[in-house]
Amino acid sequence: MNTICIMCPMGCPLTIEESDGNIVVTGNTCKRGEAYGKDEYSHPKRAVTSLVKMKDGGVASVKTSQSVPKERIFDVVRFIGSVTADSGVRIGDVIARDVLGLGVDIIVTGRK
Ligand code: SF4
Repeated sequence: MNTICIMCPMGCPLTIEESDGNIVVTGNTCKRGEAYGKDEYSHPKRAVTSLVKMKDGGVASVKTSQSVPKERIFDVVRFIGSVTADSGVRIGDVIARDVLGLGVDIIVTGRK
């Protein structure tokens, strides 16, 4: 498997292979790239960003506090779509905790 490390702007091209039951990452320049490659191969995750309606009719931009497994992204997006935030929310506020039991919170990143 080939991919690009997204852990820093260098964007090192990674090759990830399984050899004798071990995941082997090459092309990385540092240990973060090796860890990213192993995660990407065995259990890829992504941060989720979206918009939440507010009670006053506005919207707030939000993100997950941590990356979520790729196969759960649409579940998290659907959950976020079901939330209505208080009108007084501010950047950094947590509007939902431990979403779907994933251990991830939803954090306000902006207001529109
Ligand atoms: S391997 Fe290291 S240097 Fe290369 S993109 Fe990933 S984090 Fe950056």
